Amino acid sequence: KRKRDAEDVVALEQQVANLDPREVSAKDFADLPLSQPTASGLEASHFKTMTDVQAKVIPLALKGADCLGAAKTGSGKTLAFLIPVLENLYRKRWTSMDGLGVLIISPTRELAIQIFDVLRKVGRYHSFAAGLVIGGKSLREEQERLGRMNILVCTPGRMLQHMDQTASFDVNNLQMLVLDEADRIMDMGFQTTVDAIVEHLPKERQTLLFSATQTRKVSDLARLSLREPEYVSVHEAA
Ligand code: ADP
Ligand code: MG
Repeated sequence: KRKRDAEDVVALEQQVANLDPREVSAKDFADLPLSQPTASGLEASHFKTMTDVQAKVIPLALKGADCLGAAKTGSGKTLAFLIPVLENLYRKRWTSMDGLGVLIISPTRELAIQIFDVLRKVGRYHSFAAGLVIGGKSLREEQERLGRMNILVCTPGRMLQHMDQTASFDVNNLQMLVLDEADRIMDMGFQTTVDAIVEHLPKERQTLLFSATQTRKVSDLARLSLREPEYVSVHEAA
């Protein structure tokens, strides 16, 4: 089985390499080069046709580009980053031994829990370890679980607390950073906290930033955290 999986990954890598994000005609998730576990997770969750922001962001993000996605609330931004997160770790053959691969930052506990629930649904056939870091439990309890996680969904304050106080917490292997609801992150006054988190992370990484609105503060955050980003802005049909 292991040999077949390895062959599948090689084939998938080739398909992603051949994907031209500027010529996407993909309407359904099935039109994209996705792994079997992701395809099955989407199907089991009854997701078939992509929303606009998904159709634009996912091909770019699969190819490793930094992206700034601006689209109103309810446009499907969660899957626009969760699918690339799962796929990019899968194609890197990420295992429990590789440590933290992806950090997803959300402004509030409630939104973090929502993201985590979607991740558990569409990611159900993957074998990554995913965790929530949103406080509410003792720091010690969270500390013990942190080291085993491949994907973390967190709130800014709690994450920085761990970076400062959890000696064993290693972010040096991180591949992707996702900043969700960047406008709210900034409105809630988390700018310096997020800046400090980003400072701790490897420079060689992929960053995806999502926002419902494009504000000055969001572009400030984008300038500090993204590298040569692709801008994807989805407007409502007139
Ligand atoms: P946003 O983060 O942009 O506010 P969400 O990711 O929370 O949007 O998605 C909003 C709603 O749309 C959710 O109920 C989600 O399940 C649904 N949704 C997202 N993508 C799809 C899709 N491709 N097909 C059908 N429903 C979707
Ligand atoms: Mg959202």
